[in-house]
Amino acid sequence: MSRIFCLILTMALLLFSVGAYAEVLFVPGTYEAEAKGFGGTVKVTVTVSESEITGVTIEGASETPALGGVAVETMGPAIQKAQTPNVDALSGATVTSKAIIAAATEALEKAGADIAYLDAHRQDAVEDVAKEEKVLETEIVIVGAGGAGMTAAIMAKQAGKDFVILEKMPYVGGNTTKATGGMNAAGTHYQKEQGIEDSVELFAKDTMEGGHNLNNPELVQTLAAQSAGAIDWLDTIGANLPKISFSGGASVNRIHAPADGSAVGNYLVDKFSEKLKEMGVEVMLNTAATELIMEDGRIAGVKAESKDANYTIKAKAVILATGGFGANLEMIAGFRPDLQGTVTTNAPGATGDGILMAQAVGADLVDIEQIQLHPTVEQTTSMLITESVRGDGAILVNQSGHRFTNELLTRDAVSAAELAQEGQYAYIIFDQHLRDNLGAIEKYVKNGLTVQGDTIEELARKLDIYPNFLTMTLKQWNEAVTSQNDEAFGRTTGMDNTLTTPPYYAIKIAPGIHHTMGGVKINTSAEVIDTNGSAIPGLFAAGEVTGGVHGGNRLGGNAVADIVIFGRIAAESAIEYCK
Ligand code: ADP
Repeated sequence: MSRIFCLILTMALLLFSVGAYAEVLFVPGTYEAEAKGFGGTVKVTVTVSESEITGVTIEGASETPALGGVAVETMGPAIQKAQTPNVDALSGATVTSKAIIAAATEALEKAGADIAYLDAHRQDAVEDVAKEEKVLETEIVIVGAGGAGMTAAIMAKQAGKDFVILEKMPYVGGNTTKATGGMNAAGTHYQKEQGIEDSVELFAKDTMEGGHNLNNPELVQTLAAQSAGAIDWLDTIGANLPKISFSGGASVNRIHAPADGSAVGNYLVDKFSEKLKEMGVEVMLNTAATELIMEDGRIAGVKAESKDANYTIKAKAVILATGGFGANLEMIAGFRPDLQGTVTTNAPGATGDGILMAQAVGADLVDIEQIQLHPTVEQTTSMLITESVRGDGAILVNQSGHRFTNELLTRDAVSAAELAQEGQYAYIIFDQHLRDNLGAIEKYVKNGLTVQGDTIEELARKLDIYPNFLTMTLKQWNEAVTSQNDEAFGRTTGMDNTLTTPPYYAIKIAPGIHHTMGGVKINTSAEVIDTNGSAIPGLFAAGEVTGGVHGGNRLGGNAVADIVIFGRIAAESAIEYCK
């Protein structure tokens, strides 16, 4: 009997182990693969047992910290949880995400994996569980953790207020991370120390003229008058902007940047995040405000939701800092049918939520159809080719190889000139000397955006341009630089170097949606104004969600000024209101 029992047991064990062996998915070991990310190479290392992905590490030091860096941090655990490389891409960091998925796929294939099988047996499917209903109570809710929201949060914390800050994306920063130039400010201590004469009046005048005088003059006056103080405040939180240079539309050197000349957006977002962390403020990530709550004609809080909870957040005041709607292509087409199908340079969170929520409680909108195009956007990646490329001497040519505009006119004028060309695109042309002197170019080269030729003729042939035309255009341009006289288009800036050092480069570009100048109507205290002209009690707004500061065209350096200055004002007003 017992012998028979043993036999049965042995057979059962054998069957069980055969069953287990049927699940052999990998050759155990550690495997690596690489793929091209946003700023360079992304390397993925996977460790597998026979039946399981037991570890995933991702290295991608060159990815932008605010976006690609988040993908590098979060996608390893996601792949391990799902047990397949095909996890969701992080929105806003698609290039990095795709590189991670590609490298993880290759590494797992080296381990003998059948990726289709892994996909079919994906293990991170979430069950449809009912969301938890949560009620919170606080004094102020700040909606959006971009530049304006984080500025307001630092101010609120410094004033000892009880508040929460919501951010719908898995990372902070919004469109602010995209700001490259700097912050305009007049009469700052940095300007004085560097012998630059400027005034509030001149800053206001330049901003009004740049905005085609559509701007609200009172908001512009406030922006200019509070700009130097905002620079001082940034100093106090360790976000110094001492490097001053010239930016289009300014009468004097007024744009303030980090000391090392690095992009202002990422710099400020990092400094603001560090400060918030140091002060113990936690941003509620992945939590989107969906509705403003009104009681007796006053703001009484917001409704919000995350993946697993619905929130009712009761509060006395709400600050909308949700940014613009440049990533909401339906909304863009609604206000500007002519822009249907235009690519956008915007962060994915810029979907106009704050504008819609404010409108639902009676807010008025201003200049909503004023949308700024950026003239040099690579269309397949939506990557913005910084103005510095033209500022340092590049030219624009059309498909026939001819220049067609002064390349350094305002963004709207250059964009319009491009749209008037055959095919509605152009090529930005530069040489090796320019590449050597502008770090930003390396990113474009690494991402395969550039076409390169050892001679102008070779470059022309690669672009399908008649070589003699491009050669002639370059010859005339170089003569214009040498004589400092651009007879053809009257360009006077970005003419310090000829384009004569091979190899030569081109990037195909066209306009892309860049900034939505219009938005919620506010007064100089950042109170939101309703369609009857009265302030909505308890509702404040700052940054790209608002309209009126920039009018019909935003000058470079004024978006950052707007978020810091009006972010501070909104916080001060909300704090005062709560008293
Ligand atoms: P600004 O420059 O005006 O501060 P940004 O675009 O930098 O604008 O920041 C706006 C932030 O608001 C972004 O991070 C965006 O993801 C976030 N946001 C947009 N809509 C919502 C919403 N409904 N709830 C929470 N956060 C939001």
